[in-house]
Amino acid sequence: MLRTQLKVACRLYNTLFHLEEEEYKKNKHSMSRNELRQLALVLRKRNTEFQALHSQVAQQVADRFYWARQRFFEGLANKPKEKKPHMYLSLVYPQGGWKLSNIREVGQGENTEKKKARLYLSKIGFFTVVIHRDFPLEGVSQVCVKLNPSGRIFVVFLVEGEVEAPYEEKRAGEPMEVVGLDVGITRLVTLSDGRFLDNAKPLERSLGRIRLLQRSLSRKRKLSKNWFKAKLKLAEEYEYVKDFRRDLFFKLGALLARDYVILVLEDLNVVGLIQRGETRKRRMRLYDSAFSELRRILGWQFQRHGKTVLAVPSYNSSRECFQCGEVNHSLALEDRVFHCPFCGFTLDRDLNASLVLSKRACRVGATRLVCLVGELRPIPPLPSLGLAARRRRGGAMIQEASPFRAG
Ligand SMILES: [Zn+2]
Repeated sequence: MLRTQLKVACRLYNTLFHLEEEEYKKNKHSMSRNELRQLALVLRKRNTEFQALHSQVAQQVADRFYWARQRFFEGLANKPKEKKPHMYLSLVYPQGGWKLSNIREVGQGENTEKKKARLYLSKIGFFTVVIHRDFPLEGVSQVCVKLNPSGRIFVVFLVEGEVEAPYEEKRAGEPMEVVGLDVGITRLVTLSDGRFLDNAKPLERSLGRIRLLQRSLSRKRKLSKNWFKAKLKLAEEYEYVKDFRRDLFFKLGALLARDYVILVLEDLNVVGLIQRGETRKRRMRLYDSAFSELRRILGWQFQRHGKTVLAVPSYNSSRECFQCGEVNHSLALEDRVFHCPFCGFTLDRDLNASLVLSKRACRVGATRLVCLVGELRPIPPLPSLGLAARRRRGGAMIQEASPFRAG
């Protein structure tokens, strides 16, 4: 049912897109948001096919086109194009048209927030949903239902108002805990307090399986039943990689946001970095490490706790000496230890870089810096991934999926 609805919504989007284009060619007039919404309603009234959609959902399709065009006008995106049905994967219920009922607790042990409920979406029907976090029902301003390519369905409730408790202000004069964070390929993160986390390389670990699935997909006749099955399996594998990575980043973010007030990291141009990568393997590892996503998630976690993430210039950050500030130009990519030819300072390469970053934060305005220099030690194992164990069948695979064994 959801798939049918998505197809209809996609067709409505494309119809709006073509009508708008015609209107502009004829009268040199770009339709306003209200005109587009009205048009969507008129189309729905005239065409029985579009009546499969809830009226507000149809209006939201118009909104979606409007925002896409608006972003184009502001120079933030390319010109909107016709959407392909397999890329149109979510519906939004802006106000009404949905109902939660029969909410019951199913969490066990410490996990008391986990609940199950029955969700009714107008024109689609009933879903049983697993609610993993508490939220005020009366604060919900829209409900988005999203179909992932692997067939998993997510429902996102947008809640307005303050949900998280804000971070309480420290008394003036008290030092703020600042930590520098250096990202890398061998060690994903190295903190200036000496802690580090090895790079789990999620994509690289799944690469064998992805290649196998890709090969099997290419052997199938396109659009046949077996082709769809193979495609689904491939989508599942990619989604697993993505979930694995995000799960790791979120756990790391929660850990850091608990311990520190200011996190300092490099202002990296990640796309440029990947393009400059010398070998294919290095480029893949850079891509696999997903530095931008890591930064986005850490930023979100810190903001949520009322704390700050500072991005400082990344120029020469790994070649500068923490002790005397001179730049060691002879340091090569593969050198793991930083040795300063000017003052004789010797330290682990990544640790030096994270210390330099936290020092730079002082220059851009973070006051009262506490650098906790210590020995390098791994971050203790983060809670195991239930997801990894569930998705993998076969014992060996499950063991392999846990990258957090201290090492
Ligand atoms: Zn030095």
